[in-house]
This record gives sequence, structure tokens and C-alpha cells, in this order.
Amino acid sequence: MHNIDMDSVEMTLDVMKYALNRITMISPELGKPKKEEELKALVGETVTEKGIGGEKAFQLFKDVLIKATVPIDHPRHLAFVPASPTRASIMFDLVTSASSIHGAYWMEGAGGIFCENEAMKWLVSLTRLPKGAFGVFTSGGTAANLSAMVTARENWRKDEANVGEKGLIITSIGAHSSVKSMAKVIDADVLLIETEDCMTQQDLQNKLDQLTPHERKRLFAVVGTGGTTNAGIIDDLNGIATICEKENLWFHVDAAYGGGALAADSVRHLFNGIERADSITIDPHKWLFSPYDCGAIIYKNPELAREAHSQEGSYLDIFKDEGAQGFNPSDYQIQLTRRVRGLPLWFSLAMHGTDKYKWAVEEGLNLAQLAGRLITENENVELVREPSLSCVLFRRKGWTPEDYRNWTYKNHRDGFALVTPTKWRTGDTFETVARFCFINPDTTEADITAILDSMNLS
Ligand SMILES: *Cc1c(COP(=O)(O)O)cnc(C)c1O
Repeated sequence: MHNIDMDSVEMTLDVMKYALNRITMISPELGKPKKEEELKALVGETVTEKGIGGEKAFQLFKDVLIKATVPIDHPRHLAFVPASPTRASIMFDLVTSASSIHGAYWMEGAGGIFCENEAMKWLVSLTRLPKGAFGVFTSGGTAANLSAMVTARENWRKDEANVGEKGLIITSIGAHSSVKSMAKVIDADVLLIETEDCMTQQDLQNKLDQLTPHERKRLFAVVGTGGTTNAGIIDDLNGIATICEKENLWFHVDAAYGGGALAADSVRHLFNGIERADSITIDPHKWLFSPYDCGAIIYKNPELAREAHSQEGSYLDIFKDEGAQGFNPSDYQIQLTRRVRGLPLWFSLAMHGTDKYKWAVEEGLNLAQLAGRLITENENVELVREPSLSCVLFRRKGWTPEDYRNWTYKNHRDGFALVTPTKWRTGDTFETVARFCFINPDTTEADITAILDSMNLS
């Protein structure tokens, strides 16, 4: 595999050329999906006994397959939580791949893990958790939430009285789907506080008051959200922390989306209380401009995570030996073999400095405020609620769910924009509404206006 012939040199240059070209493109083509059969008909058999050759495979990728993907950094991709990795971080993602670093243990990955840890120190400083707090990079928010929940559960089960009990977690319906999903993985039950708006101290107290003694015994954690995915709402973190401290419950803050805004001075106060959490999830691949995939889990007391996650095996002993001494990321989350996925973030932070990150996050916040004003001035649309962080929920007057759906598909089909509807819940009613989520500082006022104008057609 290691013999370099002229063909592969040329291939390498082609690939590098493509990558460079893509990295410098500000508005890549907005691709659209095709059915699998259609794609198959277009590319034919690609995995064969003899191979079809790099040139052909790459050509098919460029001509057909990439066009069936949506570039998540497109300035008019405002659906879900978009992303906008810096050029520096993408370039260093290539370097990360080329360097073949095993990121599980310091013994093998020291230099790379050192860089990740430098970036992590900055993230931890944003949370203002007490000294000793630290974290590791994960594949995303889901893995980070799971790692935290396992740690919380294991810590709770240190009390013999809890061994054999099924755990219980309280969160709100504003929490991300992964919280409920990962509760299944650890076979815990979830009790939902019935609000999509800010979960308050009183909401949580009311829920606790309704628990049976056995439920109270089973309860081990509360998950607050630092920026809901749907609407950018931040729970009353101080209020929740007060109850968790009093009741001896693990307090996890899921700030997978909103965590980037900890860097923004204009909204930092909204997160007050996050420094009292036991664990915090932040996704650098959302609002900290890292390429996929890069999440992070931060613990107030990392030792508890190590007790929960450190894997044992005769083949692993050497890594934990004195001679290998250093920080082993695999001890603090669910994954063993791991990419040093914090490395692209480190390089970009080192290159640009943290002020640039503050600026870029503030840009997302500004875009949401700008969109709010444009919506208010436009007679066809109205805000469902004030913009929160970089999320804007608004309605097109007179539209049915079907109208929103058709509008989304038409914009996507035209290669113009990807903006998707969502539902907003008030009491027991769910209303279909339109939603913007801004991340990319290259999105312009003209982009927003053009998207609002596209709602006039139907
Ligand atoms: C996106 C998101 C997640 C899931 O993160 P992944 O990186 O997609 O696994 C969890 N929680 C919140 C609040 C999110 O916005």
C-alpha cells in the first residue's frame, strides 16, 4: 500500500486541488438528494474486485455524489443547526487525518492530545467551572450527553441502596431528543417538565413535589438546556443548580448548540449558573466553527468520569503505567480508539485567537436580531417569539403546514436555500412555523430578505 507511483501522485494532487478549491468556496452549490436507485443508475458499480480506479471514482464523486449533498456551511442553509467550519480548521482536519494519531492514550498521542487540551482549557474557562474541571472531545453532543449520564449514574450507584434501582432523570420537553435517546441506552426513565420555554426553578420544584418516594429515590440527575435546539432558549441554570445542590442531584447542562455563545459577552449572563453544573456538553462542530465531528464533555470533577469510563484490559495496562503517564482521553467518555478531533479546533484557535471566535459568534447573534427586525417590517410574516440566541421562529400569515412544506422543498429543489419548518408548542397546541438558525457569519441581509421574499410566491 505504501509504494507511491506516478498515478497516485497525480491522484493526490487532484484530491488536494479539489480540497483547496472547496475550502476557499464561500457559496458552494446547494445540492439536493436523489433516490438511491437514481444515484446507483448514475454511478453504476463502484466497489468491484479489480477496482474502478481512483480517477473514475473521484470523477463520479465530483460529478454526481457531492451534488446530492447539502453543504452545511452554505450561507442560506439555515435549517436545523448549521455549521461553518473555519478554513484553518478544515485544513487541519486534513492534517489530522494525514498524521495518523491515535487519540485514546497519551503514550501514543501525547502531542496531539496536548493540543486538544489547550483548546479544552479555553472551553472550560468559558464555563467558569471551578478549578480542577476538565473535559474531552467526543464525536458529538449525543456521545457527550451519554458520557455524562453514565458518569452521573455510576456515581449515584456508589450508594449500595441504589444498586438494582432503575435510574430516573428529569428534563423538559425543550431538551434535545438525544437526552431521551441516551436515557434508553442506560435504561433510565425520563420525566419531562411540560414546557418548551425556559425551565424554571419553580417548574423543577413542582415536579419534585409530585414524585412518589420511590421515584425520588430513583432520581439521580436533572438535565438543563443551555440553548434549546428548536428555539435557543436557556433554562434557569442558577435556579436548577440551587435545587440540585440541595437535593444532591447531578446537574448536567446540555449546551451542545448554545455553548458557543458562552464566548459572546453580549449574552454570557444568560448562562449564569452553568458554573455550578456537574457536567456540560458543548459541540464545537455547531457554534465553534469546527468541522464534523467534534463535541465536548466537560466535568466539574473529572475523576468521577474516570471511575465510570476507564476501560480495563491486560492489553491496556501499559498505557496506564507510570512510564506512559499523561492524560488519557479514553478514560473520560464512552469511546476507546479515537480521532484527535479537537486538533482542528486547536489549530484554528491558535491561528485566529479567541477574539475572532467571540466576533464570529456575535455575528450569528446579530443576524438573528436583524432577521427579527426584517420579519417585523414585513407584513406577510410575524415573529412567534423574540429571537433567542441565534434562533428565530416566525410564521407566514395564513399558511398551513402543507404550505411550509412545499416552500421548503421548492427552495431546496431550486438550489436556493435550505430553511425548514418546525413546530412550536404552546400548552397543548403545536403550530407549524418557520425557523432560522444562524451560525455562518457569511450569511447576509440580502440572503435573509431573499428567503423572506420567497414566501410571497405561494
Ligand atoms: C445537536 C444537539 C445535540 C446532539 O448533538 P450531536 O452532535 O448531533 O450528537 C444534543 N443536544 C443539543 C441541545 C443539541 O442542539
